[in-house]
Amino acid sequence: MIIGILGGGQLARMLALAGYPLGLTILCIDQAIDACAREVTEVIHASLNDDAAVNHFLNQVDCVTIETENLPYELVEKIADKCQMLPNLDALRVTQDRLFEKELFSELTIPTAQYVKIDSWDDLVAGATQLQFPVLLKTRRSGYDGKGQVVIHNLIQAKSAWDLFGGSALILEKFIPFEFEVSIIAVRNLAGEMRFYSLVLNKHEKGILRISRAPFENELLQKQAEEYAKKVFIKLNYVGVMAIEFFYADEKLIGNEIAPRVHNTGHWTIEGAETSQFENHLRAITGLPLGSTKPRGFSIMINCIGREPDSKEILAIPGLHLHSYGKKAMPQRKLGHVTITANYQEELEERYQAFKKMCYHFI
Ligand code: AMP
Repeated sequence: MIIGILGGGQLARMLALAGYPLGLTILCIDQAIDACAREVTEVIHASLNDDAAVNHFLNQVDCVTIETENLPYELVEKIADKCQMLPNLDALRVTQDRLFEKELFSELTIPTAQYVKIDSWDDLVAGATQLQFPVLLKTRRSGYDGKGQVVIHNLIQAKSAWDLFGGSALILEKFIPFEFEVSIIAVRNLAGEMRFYSLVLNKHEKGILRISRAPFENELLQKQAEEYAKKVFIKLNYVGVMAIEFFYADEKLIGNEIAPRVHNTGHWTIEGAETSQFENHLRAITGLPLGSTKPRGFSIMINCIGREPDSKEILAIPGLHLHSYGKKAMPQRKLGHVTITANYQEELEERYQAFKKMCYHFI
């Protein structure tokens, strides 16, 4: 079976690596000539605008999946007309627009930050008055890794934010002074079977994920997150892996974002769970039974952003695994990740401290 992926970045690369043991072949389409999946699988270097290239891609694949929600909807719609796409188009439509996402949270009674749709400077002033500073102005589409959003504390900052983003479709959100951030990685297959990984505790800096720790053990929050994920799965008739990011504030989970794909906060599952999110995504969309999501001990995942650690040095730490994506180093770019695993929390902390000593600049 050949699985087509719209995109050829690190998520596609890790999906390809998980696909081969299952007897699956992965074919990507990505216009970036240096798309990093190319080192492990075939990538057609073309834009989704290029009908001939897209048809050549579609003629070879049995189904299509995605590794990013930042895709031109109309072009993907044409693809989904010709080939089974999982997760479906509806899941993409909702999750690629922060306003639709917030509306979905509200409809499903999943708590979320108060928000206002912004189309003009007057909307922004009225929205800020309604929500009260601090607020965040975000582009509705194409935002990722903290791009396309800015925190606003007063009208002067509002004006600068408007100068930056005015003209795009926008949303204004109440700033949530959260205690911590968690996410749930969940998976649903073609038969409707659902599995959930344990909650992950996440630390972001400047909007970019730095560190994830799993399992985050809290029975009540786990149950709550699973219920929310189930609601989204059913509502969207979703198939595949999905991530939901939450803030924890006022003693509850507050939905922030849904990712219709494998997710950075699920990378720990490669070594830290019985079945990785990548394998489970492929199992889900190819009609296979899902694998166990049980954690194997304790894990910390650290993103390598802007530069990569010295493998000779860090691989001496027991339980440490390096994933280098083969990307050219650039500031703020995710170049790889490291997962440290251990059987006990204390052992994990010791290993993490050893890593921090060697790579203090990554933490
Ligand atoms: P996002 O692109 O929405 O995932 O936002 C990236 C990061 O910015 C989040 O993980 C938070 O750390 C922060 N953030 C986003 N929205 C809010 C909010 N409404 N209140 C507080 N922090 C936020």
